[in-house]
Amino acid sequence: MSFIPLMRPNITEDDIKTVCEVLRSGMLVQGKHVEQLENRLIQTFQGKFASALSNGTATLHLALKVLGIGPGDEVIVPAFSFMATANVVELIGATPVFVDIDIDTFNIDPTLIEAAITTRTRAIIPVHEFGLSAEIGEIMNIAAKYSLHVIEDAACALGATENGRHVGTFGDFGSFSFHPRKAITTGEGGALLTNKPDLHKTVQILRNHGIQMKDGEIDFSDFGYNYRLTDFQAALFNSQFARLPQIIETRQKLAAIYLSELKAYPQFKLPSVPPGKNHTWQTFHILIPDYIDRGNVIEKMRSYGIGTNYGAQCMPFMNSFRRKYNLDCHRHFPNALKAYLQGLALPLYEGLTPQDIHVCVNTLIKST
Ligand SMILES: *Cc1c(COP(=O)(O)O)cnc(C)c1O
Repeated sequence: MSFIPLMRPNITEDDIKTVCEVLRSGMLVQGKHVEQLENRLIQTFQGKFASALSNGTATLHLALKVLGIGPGDEVIVPAFSFMATANVVELIGATPVFVDIDIDTFNIDPTLIEAAITTRTRAIIPVHEFGLSAEIGEIMNIAAKYSLHVIEDAACALGATENGRHVGTFGDFGSFSFHPRKAITTGEGGALLTNKPDLHKTVQILRNHGIQMKDGEIDFSDFGYNYRLTDFQAALFNSQFARLPQIIETRQKLAAIYLSELKAYPQFKLPSVPPGKNHTWQTFHILIPDYIDRGNVIEKMRSYGIGTNYGAQCMPFMNSFRRKYNLDCHRHFPNALKAYLQGLALPLYEGLTPQDIHVCVNTLIKST
């Protein structure tokens, strides 16, 4: 019996050839392929500036750093996301303030944001969860009203749009990840988009040890990091990026098959796509009924040869944040908790066939 994994990166022979050429060239770090990656993002997404960085956590961390956020500051994050979204706020020394999500979209509920704003709030990090744009228009309005920065965590949402405009180009920064769980992967990798030249300049300096050229000489003007991306990783990205429209189209077709097959089973809550949003389906995520143990379902499906997993975490419910803040998640973040405890991500990748999806759905029924 062949195993259907949750996700399988689609690396073609052409992709491999491109990487090998860079390895043979001897130029391995932050060279012309990194520059090309940045130019492609700018051209395709119509942002102004892009910086390739080593991963989609470094991007968020550097964005907070460049915006001058630190101890004493509060940053609003959705209660449901991959842990990196809130971890970076801790790493910079600020305090994450969690806001519950909309259970229909799994994105931050914009109607709850204003109540979470205090005199210490400096920024909002909306997440475009699973490839679906958050209510970014409303979030930008709230941010403008209270003079807050916005860092879009678009790690899952490369190519997703809101009314035709690419996510990652609305806020001060847009952050992307190229981890193997995302639609395009460089193994590890990420990129930071911004429309503001001064922010971009600081990103470029801090990702490379604080090096700045002054009158033809190297000057260390600030304490920097090493958040560079290698050139062979960038080449791998560029090779795949040419296929992005097809990758998204394939994922949308596969998601549509899931939706039509699962419609017959009202016990599952299916993801919905509000108008104006182009969902790129990094993850196909459903909610199973609360009388069924999700861990058991994952185990059973694995035994039948299907890889599934939970989608993301209710972050304040995880031990690290629970130990520090001890928040009552049942009371404050009921939707995030539900999405975490009853959420199930089903296999979705380019090589998946309609027949595979049929098998996945039948196995889900058999396992619940
Ligand atoms: C994957 C992901 C990240 C982290 O990206 P890495 O490249 O793995 O560091 C951050 N936020 C969200 C929402 C993610 O899905």
